[in-house]
Amino acid sequence: MSPALTIRPYSEGALTQAAAKLRAGELVAFPTETVYGLGADATNDDAVAGIFAAKQRPSFNPLISHFPDRDAAARHAIFDARADKLAAAFWPGALTLVLPKRDDSTVSHLTTAGLPSIAVRVPAHDMARALLRAVGRPIAAPSANRSGRISPTTAAHVAASLGNAIGMILDGGPCGVGLESTVIDLTTDQVVMLRPGGITRDQVAQVLGCDVVMAETDDNAPKSPGMLTSHYAPGLPVRLNADAPDQKKYGHEILLAFGDCVTKGFDKVLWLSKTGDDREAAANLFAKLHEADQPRFDGIAIAPIPDTGLGLAINDRMKRASAPRALHPTP
Ligand code: AMP
Ligand code: MG
Repeated sequence: MSPALTIRPYSEGALTQAAAKLRAGELVAFPTETVYGLGADATNDDAVAGIFAAKQRPSFNPLISHFPDRDAAARHAIFDARADKLAAAFWPGALTLVLPKRDDSTVSHLTTAGLPSIAVRVPAHDMARALLRAVGRPIAAPSANRSGRISPTTAAHVAASLGNAIGMILDGGPCGVGLESTVIDLTTDQVVMLRPGGITRDQVAQVLGCDVVMAETDDNAPKSPGMLTSHYAPGLPVRLNADAPDQKKYGHEILLAFGDCVTKGFDKVLWLSKTGDDREAAANLFAKLHEADQPRFDGIAIAPIPDTGLGLAINDRMKRASAPRALHPTP
């Protein structure tokens, strides 16, 4: 089912074609100043599911949404004074800001892995910004390599790693930095560095005039911020591999259904995929979890989903959602 791969050197025509493909929900790899990104329309659940399918990632992590400028990003993320200072100092550039997601943002729940926050960046590469302008929509773009392989800094790297899984590579020659963007979380009063990268902790601290806490190592950081900030869990308990309702044991459950699973006897049924399609289920996953998470039910039951293709990532996510809650944020 993979589309034939087109590799085009950058030109007006190539840009127009890449933008059209992205708007149509296809995957397009494009150069940024850090590495080649694997782009998809961040507002299209199915297109974003395609990123995870192509990369063969065994889990869903939130993806960075890319914009041509600060104002485009501000239509999806809430900027406070700190965010504006950092954007003014480092954009376009290798800095990603994690900010509260706006209620009216159209960015897919799968892009943000169900979180109330969104990671936004304005890349410094001219071709990337021209493409983002031409598309006119946020573009989710992790590095354009298969999970676990090295980050791609040329079109040839991308073709070797993902050639049979994507529609087009916009070839802009070798990328400059090769280092990923620095990720700064501004969703709390503290300024937390989630990932070191092209812009240093000191540079960020200097612009803001305050301390920057390291997520992984700093004792002052909130406990396990990785856990706190990057894993959405519903408020209701989650039960996996639910092959039958059992009200005595589990109370009134809402079922997230898949394929030919048993649906009879559950209080309500929401379909991840009627045909048992793992990609459709992945695209629906976070939106349906949010929809199911209503206090009128006692729990969320998840139908059995085979551990193949994107099923692996779905089951990984569901296992975390069903784990004990001490570390999870209260929304
Ligand atoms: P990559 O797409 O591989 O460059 O990595 C994206 C980075 O941004 C990862 O470290 C993510 O955990 C982080 N990230 C993206 N979105 C969010 C978010 N909404 N909240 C917290 N971290 C995020
Ligand atoms: Mg990567």
